[in-house]
Amino acid sequence: MSQPETHEFQAEVKQLLDLVVHSLYSDRDIFLRELVSNASDAIDKRRFEALTHTELGGEGEPQITLVTNAEAHTLSISDTGIGMTRAEVVTNIGTIAKSGTKEFLKRAGSGEVKLPELIGQFGVGFYSAFMVADRIELVTRKAGEATATRWISTGDGSYTIEDATRDDIGTTVTLHLKAADPDEGTDYTNASTLRRIVKHYSDFVAYPIKLGDDTLNSMKAIWDRPKSEVTEDEYKQFYRHIAHDWTDPLRTIPVKMEGTIEAYALLYLPAKAPMDLYNPEMKRGLQLYVKRVFVMDECKDLMPPYLRFVRGVVDAHDLSLNVSREILQKDRQIAVIRKQLVKKVLGTLEELARDDADKYKAFWSELGPVVKEGLLAPDAATEKDKLLELVLSPSTTQASTSIAAYIERMKEGQEAIYFLSGASREAVAKSPLLEAFVAKGFEVLLFSDPIDELWLERAPEFRGKPMHSIGRGDIKLDGDETVDKAKAAEFGDLLSCLRVHLQEEIKEVRLSQRLTTSPVVLVADENDLSPRVAKMLEQMGQAPPKQKRILEVNPNHPLIAKLQAIFLASNADPRLEQCAKLLLGQAHLVESGTVPDQAAFAATLIDIMLRAT
Ligand code: ADP
Ligand code: MG
Repeated sequence: MSQPETHEFQAEVKQLLDLVVHSLYSDRDIFLRELVSNASDAIDKRRFEALTHTELGGEGEPQITLVTNAEAHTLSISDTGIGMTRAEVVTNIGTIAKSGTKEFLKRAGSGEVKLPELIGQFGVGFYSAFMVADRIELVTRKAGEATATRWISTGDGSYTIEDATRDDIGTTVTLHLKAADPDEGTDYTNASTLRRIVKHYSDFVAYPIKLGDDTLNSMKAIWDRPKSEVTEDEYKQFYRHIAHDWTDPLRTIPVKMEGTIEAYALLYLPAKAPMDLYNPEMKRGLQLYVKRVFVMDECKDLMPPYLRFVRGVVDAHDLSLNVSREILQKDRQIAVIRKQLVKKVLGTLEELARDDADKYKAFWSELGPVVKEGLLAPDAATEKDKLLELVLSPSTTQASTSIAAYIERMKEGQEAIYFLSGASREAVAKSPLLEAFVAKGFEVLLFSDPIDELWLERAPEFRGKPMHSIGRGDIKLDGDETVDKAKAAEFGDLLSCLRVHLQEEIKEVRLSQRLTTSPVVLVADENDLSPRVAKMLEQMGQAPPKQKRILEVNPNHPLIAKLQAIFLASNADPRLEQCAKLLLGQAHLVESGTVPDQAAFAATLIDIMLRAT
């Protein structure tokens, strides 16, 4: 047996230890997660080695054992893993090999990087145990070796290393715990404390974590088991566990990523919209694991807001356990994983729409409005086409249709996809704007979710066809041009007269091709904001310049014919102004259920009634 040798830690490790020991890192419990994760990695490695060198396999079941001694105030973590040689202990526990570490420490020293971020950048792993221990003893014996190695340090700059004996292959880390801080009071020799921490961070670690006769973890990480080996019921139970939703999920989506990024995920689409879907405080995001070790709840960077109802876990194998939320936001791996997950979710929805239309309809009525938020998300540009494929909407002929199915029913020669959007299902379905379209057999999509106007405002295209609002611009539906010209000449003066009376609000009065039974309708100019969007902006304090609308008049309506007669008899007849105002008022009423100046509208109405009775 050789004499104990004392080694200085590598300078970077010293600095790191200093930071760890003296930092006010709030979540000390994570030390156990780190040591259990190292133990689990070591067992993985040994099992891998044993595939080719069976003699390294060992007899018993692999396991991780916790032993406490309340009197001596110690906690030890033992594993049946691969162990380390003396040289490995020196390199693994005495130095930090990771590239870039020196640079980071330099920046930490200069105050450029915050400590939690720094800790997140590279696994402090083993060293985090110095948050709770003032002396650590590690005894390890490598598979295939006869002697063991003992490593001891108080975390103050040096460690001693010597040969030792250990009956079995594996590693034991013994923590001489700091005297419990009276404020914190966490006693890491307490069984229920250990049980709680293991449940929280290490529940799905693949090997039993034992304390006495108890196994503290469930080990049931079903996300990295092949789909064929997991029962439907296990998937459902796991969903309940993570989503706290007792309704069965609509779809379960296991994801496996290999190649440049290794990750597993298990995602669920809920059958019902969560209650807090529109609450900004909503708990959203996925759980993040690194090789079965829990890292973070509600990791928002893994799912875009428009898919915030998706629940599940992601197990990213190459992340650091200590990754912080700040770092995740910028992490390239996370961005790649998110992209793949989004693709998978949208693909699953597409599949559902194709294979089970009724189920998809039910899904869409619950969650469609949220999915449509994606059509507005600046970072979802690449998904926009996919999202449009998923949109369902009622139309003038269908209770519910996709835009693709609409296109299949389009009339010969029809260039654009016609839609109308408005405040409510009823208002839209009864809008006078539809009259000529219905009469001439053009189908119109009817949108009425608050979000619709916002994305439709951006003039989307679908499969190369423009989507055109029928409440906007000048619409020509196969009319007869000579008849139109004659009508325009006939009513030209009346239209000018109406415009004069309405000029505060209306920029143009013109004949309509949209109407068959209503006398007038309000429309917007091709490039104007829709009235509801303008109103929303106003409510948000971003009032747009007031936009005047266009009033279209139906020359075939008896009331218009009557006005024409009055006008021809005397262009100064006071009834002309009154009728102009009432016509505009009722156009507003039909569109949105209210008139801008209700008192004036009522007064004019009463006046007209008085004359008529
Ligand atoms: P990381 O786990 O991110 O590599 P750690 O600081 O947690 O960083 O551990 C450093 C290294 O020490 C590990 O990579 C491993 O090689 C070695 N090690 C730590 N604990 C054990 C153990 N229980 N058994 C075998 N090797 C270990
Ligand atoms: Mg580690």
